[in-house]
Amino acid sequence: MHEDELRLRRGYVTVDWAPEGPGVQKQIERYVRQKISSGDWAVGLKLPSQRTLARQFGVNRSTVAAALSELMALGVLESGRGGGTRIAAGGWALRVPAAPGWGAAMEEGGFRANSDIIQTINRLEFDPSYIRLGTGELSPDLYPRALSERTLARLGREICSMNYLEPLGLRSLRETLCARLNARGIAAGPENVLITSGSLQALQLISMCLLRNGSLVLTEKPSYLRSLQVFQSAGLRLRGIAMDGEGLLPSALDGNAQALYTIPTFHNPTGTVMSARRRQEVMDRCTALRLPVIEDDAYGELWLDETPPPALKTLDNGGAVLYLGTVSKTLAPGLRVGWAVGPESVVARLGDVKMQVDYGASSISQRIVEELWRGGDYDRYLLSLREALRRRRALALSALQTHFSSLADWNLPAGGFYIWLRLRQPVPTEMLFRRALSRRLLLNPGAVYDDGDNHALRLSYAYADEAALGPAIAALAEVVRGML
Ligand code: PMP
Repeated sequence: MHEDELRLRRGYVTVDWAPEGPGVQKQIERYVRQKISSGDWAVGLKLPSQRTLARQFGVNRSTVAAALSELMALGVLESGRGGGTRIAAGGWALRVPAAPGWGAAMEEGGFRANSDIIQTINRLEFDPSYIRLGTGELSPDLYPRALSERTLARLGREICSMNYLEPLGLRSLRETLCARLNARGIAAGPENVLITSGSLQALQLISMCLLRNGSLVLTEKPSYLRSLQVFQSAGLRLRGIAMDGEGLLPSALDGNAQALYTIPTFHNPTGTVMSARRRQEVMDRCTALRLPVIEDDAYGELWLDETPPPALKTLDNGGAVLYLGTVSKTLAPGLRVGWAVGPESVVARLGDVKMQVDYGASSISQRIVEELWRGGDYDRYLLSLREALRRRRALALSALQTHFSSLADWNLPAGGFYIWLRLRQPVPTEMLFRRALSRRLLLNPGAVYDDGDNHALRLSYAYADEAALGPAIAALAEVVRGML
């Protein structure tokens, strides 16, 4: 296998420890040996760069270099193919009889690892000393605690079984969902709906069940889908389609592709809303090309100024659109409740595979969502959520106006969470990401959503504390200025 592909499959070593007190170099050597002899770090895994390790250990690069060269001399580490340092399979491993060949096994597995930046984000999001300026999630401040308390108390009294559910998910939840979808112009009955463990699972099921290895999937350029390895791990190729202010350009849709994945409403990461006219053009072109459409509507209910144009699914007469939704952005991603809506036979096929993969989404989560939807509590909550998001959006936009007007351009989001900040001069976004970390700012650089991007950042006004948004944006401007 090619070294680049191996790197994509292999896990990365992660460091969650720092030396304390005297003898720092020896402490690092002991730490690495202990990680290997316990089997936590598998033979064959590659270590991060010396610069990254120095930051993670909180020491000078020269100390890391000295510790690594000592471990190399002992045969614990070796030079990797294609550069870098990896855990040696030779003499050291032979002295660790308990360690099976996990390193090689991990390279065999078909699923790719997240990029280094995404893994770092996933880890540091749980370190409270960082301000999360890119997170696509609601702040804990916005969680409806009283509503949650009432709902859980009621369910505690009512629930009398927690068995597996039907293959497509809790029937009453699907019925309530259909009433909500019908009100938005989407014709669907309970047999058209599969409840998934988040919409991410719907994407995975689609990649496993509906698309063949080697298939070409079109997406907006940039796209959330690029930040994942779900499609690529299934052997699918992604091709980005340029966008303008009205959404993706229909002329670039191509009959050689096997599907279009699109986020027409409050696009992740750019915040763009596809215009009504463009929606019709896209559907006309997809129909002409017989191109199936995966419409991801994770943010559709989070409009802040006016209701967005109807979903592509409302324009779908022949069952070409698989429509995905989730409560992750409006309520709580930890519930892991999403849905896929499409033709009955397709939904049944996805549901059958879902039964083999996890036997259904969490029953308690499905009951919670049903309870919230049924009584109107959810819609009342959405009104107050929109109010809070408007306030946060205003704070972020005003801070950008003050600190970034000479440095960048950005969109005025009409809903969702994101501001797509485009720096006027290119910067290596990975370096920007690292420099921002040293100011305790956690960013989502544009390169995560588009390989070639070197000038954009996805900012989110939904997560950081309201009081922290302005100062964090000011600090970010300083980091950017320091790089120009
Ligand atoms: N689609 C889009 C466009 C998203 O932004 C996200 C979350 N970042 C997801 C899907 C996945 O959400 P979940 O699996 O939590 O429903």
